[in-house]
Amino acid sequence: MKHPRAPIVVIGGGVAGLATALAAAPSPVRLLCRAIDGTGSASALAQGGIAAALDPDDSPLAHTEDTLVAGAHHNNVAMVRWLCAQAPEAIAWLQAQGVVFDRDAGGALKLGREGGHRVARIVHAGGDASGAVLLRALLAKAQCAAHIQWRGGLDADALLLRDGVVCGVRAIDGQGRQHVIEASAVVLATGGIGALFACTSNPPGADGSGLALGMAAGARVRDLEFVQFHPTALDVSGAHCLPLITEALRGAGARLRDAGGRLLMEGLHPLGDLAPRDVVARRVWQARRDDGRVWLDASAMEGEWESAFPTVLAACLKHGIDPRHQPIPVTPAAHFHMGGLAVDGDGRTSVPGLYAAGEVACNGVHGANRLASNSLLEGILCGRRLGAVLAATPAAAGRGEHRWAERGSVLAADDLSRLRDLLWQTAGPVRRTESLRHYLLQLMAWPAQGWQARLAQSLLDAALQRHESLGAHYIAAPEMDV
Ligand SMILES: Cc1cc2nc3c(=O)[nH]c(=O)nc-3n(C[C@H](O)[C@H](O)[C@H](O)COP(=O)(O)OP(=O)(O)OC[C@H]3O[C@@H](n4cnc5c(N)ncnc54)[C@H](O)[C@@H]3O)c2cc1C
Repeated sequence: MKHPRAPIVVIGGGVAGLATALAAAPSPVRLLCRAIDGTGSASALAQGGIAAALDPDDSPLAHTEDTLVAGAHHNNVAMVRWLCAQAPEAIAWLQAQGVVFDRDAGGALKLGREGGHRVARIVHAGGDASGAVLLRALLAKAQCAAHIQWRGGLDADALLLRDGVVCGVRAIDGQGRQHVIEASAVVLATGGIGALFACTSNPPGADGSGLALGMAAGARVRDLEFVQFHPTALDVSGAHCLPLITEALRGAGARLRDAGGRLLMEGLHPLGDLAPRDVVARRVWQARRDDGRVWLDASAMEGEWESAFPTVLAACLKHGIDPRHQPIPVTPAAHFHMGGLAVDGDGRTSVPGLYAAGEVACNGVHGANRLASNSLLEGILCGRRLGAVLAATPAAAGRGEHRWAERGSVLAADDLSRLRDLLWQTAGPVRRTESLRHYLLQLMAWPAQGWQARLAQSLLDAALQRHESLGAHYIAAPEMDV
C-alpha cells in the first residue's frame, strides 16, 4: 500500500486518540498529547466501565432502547444501533489488546448495573479503575506500534489550512517552542469541556481546547448546550476538579440522604437512586442549595470496598473520609459533553482534512443525555472506525495559499476562575433563560476575550436557542422552584 507523504496527526492520548492511531496502521501516525506519559486524560479516570449486551437475557436492541431513552430520543438512531450492535466485539477487541476484565467466581465476566440501564451490562476492570486499566493496555500497544510516533508534552494551538484543507498542526512545548507538523489529515481527540465549569469530575486539561481549535478552522458544531452533570462528585470545598463517586456504588446499594438524614430520591422517580443522572443531579443541586450538604450513605452497600471500589476508597481516605464507616459528602459536577464538533459516522467534520473522535466530537449517538458507560465504548468504536477510514483515504491535496486557524489567547487565571463560576451558576444542572441571556451579554462585554470565553459564549448561546428542557438541558421556569 502506498503511504501518504505526511503522517496522520492525532491530537489526544485518551481512548479515542489511541484507538484511532492503532487502527490507522500501516499509515504513519504522529500522536500528540499534552502530558509526556499520556496522563491527564478523562479516559484514565473512568470508573464504571463499558456497556455491552453480553448477558444471555440482554440484547443490542435493549441496549439501543436504553440509550435512546437516556438521550431523550434526540439521538442519531442509526449511530446508536451501530454502537450497541458493535459493543460485544469492542470488548473482545479490548481483551485482544491485553485488557483483563473482572470476572465472577464462576469465571464469567462480571456485569455491573448503572443508572438508565434496565439490566446489568457494564464490564469493568480493576474494580472502579476501568479507565486506567484500559488506557495502560492501549498505551502499551501504541508505544510499541511501528507506525505510531509518540509526541508527548505538546499543546496544539493552531491548525494549518491550504485551500481550505487542514494539512498541519502547530504545537507548543513546555519551553514555549513552536513545532509545526505537516499532516495528511488531522484528528482531534482532545476530550470534553468539563474543566470550564467550577465543579467538575474531569481533569484540568478537559478544557475544550480541541473544540475551540475546530471552531477556529470553521468546523460546524452541534448540541453544545447538552452537558451532563454527574450527581455525585466528592464535595471537597474550594476544589475545582473533584474525585468522582461512581454511580456503581448506588448500583451496589448506597443511598443518597439529605442533611436531615432523609432518603433524597424517595418518591421522586421509580428508579430511585438510580434515576437518570440529570434527575438525580438536579435533586442534589436543590438539596445542597436548601439544606447545605448531601450525603451518600454506603453502609448498606454490598461488595468489598478494596476490590470493587479501590479508587473511590482511596480518594475519600485522602480527604479524611472513611466511606466504610462515614457518609460521603457529594455534589453534582460537570461530567460529559454530549455536544461538540459535528461529525458523520466516520468522524469527518465539515472542514476537509479535519476529523474528530471521542468526547470532542458529536455524531449524535448520545442524544441529549449520555447513557452511563457508553462513552468509552464510543471512543473505542468510533476511533477504530475513523482510523480504518484514514488508512484507506488518500491525503487531501491543498497546494495554494495557507492560513493558520489559531485557538487564540488564553484567559488570565483570575478571569478563568470567574468564567468557571459563571458557567456553573448559569449553565449548570439548572438553567434559567433570563440568567443565560444576562450572562451571555456580560461575557460578550468582557475586556479580556480569551478562547475559553469565546467557547463559553457559544455554549450559552446554544443553551439560549433551546427554549424547552430536553435531556440534560434543564430550563427552570422563572417562578419555579426546582
Ligand atoms: C471521572 C470520570 C469517570 C468516567 N467514567 C466513565 C465510565 O465509567 N465509562 C464511560 O464510558 N465513560 C466514563 N467517563 C467518560 C469518559 O471517560 C470520557 O468521555 C472519555 O474517556 C473521553 O475520551 P477521549 O479520548 O475523547 O478524551 P480524553 O480521554 O479526555 O483524552 C483527551 C486527550 O487529549 C489531550 N489534549 C487535549 N487538548 C490538547 C491539546 N490542545 N493539545 C494536545 N493534546 C491535547 C489530553 O492531554 C488527553 O490526552 C468518565 C469520565 C470521568 C471524568
